[in-house]
Amino acid sequence: MAPLIDPFARAIRYLRVSVTDRCDFRCTYCMAEHMTFLPKAELLSLEELDRMCSAFIGMGVEKLRITGGEPLVRRGIMTFFEAMARHLQSGALQELTLTTNGSQLSRFAAPLADLGVRRINVSLDTLDPAKFATITRWGRLNQVLDGILAAKAAGMRVKINTVALKGFNEDELFPLLDWCAREDLDLTFIEVMPMGEMGEENRLDQYWSLRDLRARLADRFTLTDLLERSGGPARYVRLAETGQKIGFITPLTHNFCESCNRVRLTCTGELYMCLGQEDMADLRAPLRLHPDDPAPLEAAIRDAISRKPKGHDFDYTRQGAIRGQMTRHMSHTGG
Ligand code: SAM
Ligand code: SF4
Repeated sequence: MAPLIDPFARAIRYLRVSVTDRCDFRCTYCMAEHMTFLPKAELLSLEELDRMCSAFIGMGVEKLRITGGEPLVRRGIMTFFEAMARHLQSGALQELTLTTNGSQLSRFAAPLADLGVRRINVSLDTLDPAKFATITRWGRLNQVLDGILAAKAAGMRVKINTVALKGFNEDELFPLLDWCAREDLDLTFIEVMPMGEMGEENRLDQYWSLRDLRARLADRFTLTDLLERSGGPARYVRLAETGQKIGFITPLTHNFCESCNRVRLTCTGELYMCLGQEDMADLRAPLRLHPDDPAPLEAAIRDAISRKPKGHDFDYTRQGAIRGQMTRHMSHTGG
């Protein structure tokens, strides 16, 4: 089948799938404490998720990242991973991976590795148990650290994703780096993005520019920019003194949209062609209306890709104002 090419000649080979909007944490930059979640009937069933992802894979998607909400709290989720593993075995899919808060990894790391998950992203913003409890509201640090150990023991490469938060983890920059070096974990920093209402929290109060973070790193280490690109937003540097590779995801200080190779499917079957734009396509309707004929779904996917915009408009540069704010939460589109 012809591959998916958008109007800016970008080939779409990467699908991120949010399998649930629910979560066992309430990170302050991601969710309000009291969230209203979607009624379960709105969600794609595991079998529908399988058909949806298989359609994308048939159209040239080679990498699938499962996210949420917290993907590992979705009931029966291993059935879905098992279904996707068949595409790894056939060679159609190059990589099956997930982004998780790590709370359930002690239980799931080994079975995920057995199914062919080789790399995993674990979100972790602090190594201090009290601060961890504050930022996640409901999480326990030890549970996540145990999960990371389980993933390593299962042979998975673990990447830590840390949201850079002003006044929160600025003082942990070097402890986090040291810990990742000792544990042989990759590390990527992310700028906080204007996604969804969070109750009493203020985005601009949380925003710590990675330009500033990088300058602090350069005070202590010799940084070399690496040219490698994953088609994604991360840019990498190597620290000469430790050999570590550190990633930066900087939606606010840089725009990385020109090489974007991805689209995002929500747990209700909406396809967002850009994380930072409101336009989306409802793929659940063609999927449900035509259970035995994939053609209408494929046509809807192609039509959606033909509307993929050039990029997002996030911007905090105007004093006190946020441009490009999205009403939906990160947990809706899948971070
Ligand atoms: N629950 C899983 C987790 O935390 O890894 C997967 C979903 S979570 C929405 C995916 C990623 O989005 C996490 O690394 C999280 O830190 C990040 N995230 C959530 N809200 C964000 C925001 N407003 N700005 C930047 N990153 C955000
Ligand atoms: Fe849950 Fe992940 Fe959002 Fe934290 S960032 S509330 S763990 S979905």
